[in-house]
Amino acid sequence: MTVQSTSLAPGTVLSGVGVGRRAVVGPVVQVRPAPVVPADAAVVVDGSPADRATTRRALEDAFAQVAAGLSEQAERASGTVAEVLTATAQMAADPALRAQVLAKVDAGEPPVQAIDSVVATFAAMFEAAGGYLAERVTDLRSVRDRVVAAALGLPAPGVPELHEPSVVVARDLAPADTAALDLAQVLAIVTELGGPTGHTAIIAGQLGLPCLVRVTGVTDLPDGTVVAVDAADGTVTVSPDDAQRARFAARAAAERALEQDTAAGATSDGHPVALMANIGTAEDAERIAGNPVQGVGLFRTEVLFLERASAPTREEQAAVYARALRALGGRKVVVRTLDAGADKPLAFATQPDEENPALGVRGYRQVRTHPELLATQLAALADAQRETGTTPWVMAPMIATPDEARDFAALARANGVATVGVMVEIPAAALRAADILAEVDFVSLGTNDLAQYCMATDRLRGELADLLDAWQPAVLDLVAATARAGAVRGKPVGVCGESASDPLMSLVLVGLGVTSLSMSAGAVPAVRYAVRHHTLAQCQAMAAAALAARSATLARQAVLELVNDEAKAALGW
Ligand code: PEP
Ligand code: MG
Repeated sequence: MTVQSTSLAPGTVLSGVGVGRRAVVGPVVQVRPAPVVPADAAVVVDGSPADRATTRRALEDAFAQVAAGLSEQAERASGTVAEVLTATAQMAADPALRAQVLAKVDAGEPPVQAIDSVVATFAAMFEAAGGYLAERVTDLRSVRDRVVAAALGLPAPGVPELHEPSVVVARDLAPADTAALDLAQVLAIVTELGGPTGHTAIIAGQLGLPCLVRVTGVTDLPDGTVVAVDAADGTVTVSPDDAQRARFAARAAAERALEQDTAAGATSDGHPVALMANIGTAEDAERIAGNPVQGVGLFRTEVLFLERASAPTREEQAAVYARALRALGGRKVVVRTLDAGADKPLAFATQPDEENPALGVRGYRQVRTHPELLATQLAALADAQRETGTTPWVMAPMIATPDEARDFAALARANGVATVGVMVEIPAAALRAADILAEVDFVSLGTNDLAQYCMATDRLRGELADLLDAWQPAVLDLVAATARAGAVRGKPVGVCGESASDPLMSLVLVGLGVTSLSMSAGAVPAVRYAVRHHTLAQCQAMAAAALAARSATLARQAVLELVNDEAKAALGW
């Protein structure tokens, strides 16, 4: 039974979008909501409403207190968590935000109303900008709630202290709240709002927590209600029965069993397929250093600079790249040059006024508008190479033509980076992959964007997910064309888009001739298992079956029929 309702009957299933594969059972703890106060609530001093000057001072103090509190939290945190907390603290400290609120108070507006309306204006601006900025609106609203609570002397909103391992439930969870979580006591995060690429989901993923977003009705569950959270199928089951608990326990045991195999990726008859991790920060590199992965197949360097207002210097970048290279201790690391624009806007690089940013000056194309960014990045990478004595591979995103590949390769080699490749994520590049591979040493398929551009479907929108599917035979045709070109040129063709993390799809990719698969580190064990339990010939038969299907659903079904029973049982197919 799947319903979008607030029913609390045992067995009721609430649906959302899951991030990750894990499933857990635990009691709900609701995050304390924002204070509900009337817009004309007054700041009270010594029991009576404060005058305008005192109200003004109280608001200034509230902004400062919230900014300082968030900064302190940021200092205690690390990595992405620290970065988002710092960014949220900067919002609280933003002079423009504060000045506009104070100007309204000076003009006679009640303080809560003034904060509300100014934040609403800023939020509308962020939402209109779209992409990453739109996802920061949650942070902005968290600043508003904290400042209102501080100004009115109310307790700060957020997560209560957790006394047992719990499922944290919220309408939306600001990074500040996520960062404040006691990880030893959090089993999963479930929110009613938010998107799968929002901060909460990203942080939860980094922390290894199962996460569900867009679960309507979940905030109606009373504290203490036991729920079963399944990130793989995006469901929350109220008061699960013993059978479901047993199924989850068996799944957890099966996942742990998969992790025991640390062999290099290869088919059962020994055809090698390198299994690599995708990372976004030097800390990610350090965290996965102990994992049995053969290196990093995609280092998304723009993730390092999402919060930056100005371009990072050569020295700053060299230090980060050197740290990541050192962490991987000589394993292969494929560093992607900045992929700014569209879904990953960087304040210092994104074109401000593009109507269709996904089709605009993003990725490698920014060499036309900001050539210094690429030059600095390649120089920094070469510095890191010299400093660490390791040799990173480098690749450019969003390459459309062989000429672009040639120009990028020349620039990278001039800087002393020896192994140069490009991403194939535009259909034109897939169709002309042989010409592109004549210019570079390797290519890596970005199937997220390849599907977006092949199917003309915005990857940020969930409602067209059936079209935005790497199982679409047309997308597989482009992968096949690229892999064939790799075989002709005798050069590696990897996949670093999300499709590489789907164990069933990984078999098809291997069968098509893909030579390495790169994914979030947590996805590797299941993919390793799938690949190690099929021969290359079986993978090739699956690839042929997928290409012969006339829809994504039929392609998946056709491949599933060719999977052996052992893998079906182990991977829950
Ligand atoms: C892709 O497009 O598949 C890819 C790996 O790059 P990103 O998701 O960062 O655009
Ligand atoms: Mg891409």
